[in-house]
Amino acid sequence: SRYGPAILVEAGNYKIMVDAGPGMPERLFQAGGFEILTAIDHVLITHLHFDHTISVPRLWLTGWLFGRKSPMKIYGPTGTSAMMANFRAAYDWDVRYRTAVGVHQLGSELIAKDIEPGVFFDKDGLKITAFNVEHMPINIDTGESLGLRGATLGYRIDYRERSVLFSGDTRSTPSSRIIPLGKGVDVLIHETQVPAIGNSPEAVLANVSLSVHSSPAQVAYVLDRTRPRLGVYSHIIPPEMTSDELLALTD
Ligand SMILES: [Zn+2]
Ligand SMILES: [Zn+2]
Repeated sequence: SRYGPAILVEAGNYKIMVDAGPGMPERLFQAGGFEILTAIDHVLITHLHFDHTISVPRLWLTGWLFGRKSPMKIYGPTGTSAMMANFRAAYDWDVRYRTAVGVHQLGSELIAKDIEPGVFFDKDGLKITAFNVEHMPINIDTGESLGLRGATLGYRIDYRERSVLFSGDTRSTPSSRIIPLGKGVDVLIHETQVPAIGNSPEAVLANVSLSVHSSPAQVAYVLDRTRPRLGVYSHIIPPEMTSDELLALTD
């Protein structure tokens, strides 16, 4: 019953979607129907994998069609604005069609910004900090980079003494920025991948991606160092893991 990564943060009048994974619009309908869907106009993307971005067009276009009258603002690592320009180009005919028949024009706009680590939003008491996490592919035998360029970001959101941190997709390393930035946050949301057991070809293949994700034991280490009021697993691999199984492994 799990869908892809997409978490809504409500802070004052701001409704901020963090990642736009598969199933996000369905979850929004369940949570609050068109009212919520049309109210979201800020999106933070951790990285450009499809399981974090594929629902951007649906949030952008469905929200617009059903009443959002402000541009959708999207923040993410280098490459985000190019991806959004491609989404805009892909749906150009649709946007021109609906604008021609009277759908509010401003809501169809996508304003995308590639951001660097640091505070990039500080307004109305809402502060959003981006930081680099480690999700680039490496040679699992040597630990060396495969040379692919790009970045994955984690985010910390602060609003009126409340704080939440998103790990993004990340392997765990002692130098992880999550540890200093996550100290004492209210909620720390961390990805995880449970190692597959055995040496079957399926298990070996599944475990290749452990080099870019964090095991529950590694997340337990992060939670122990940061001591959030609440730790939450998200982006659970494999998705059929139960809460009890995950908690038992978080030791
Ligand atoms: Zn990823
Ligand atoms: Zn992912």
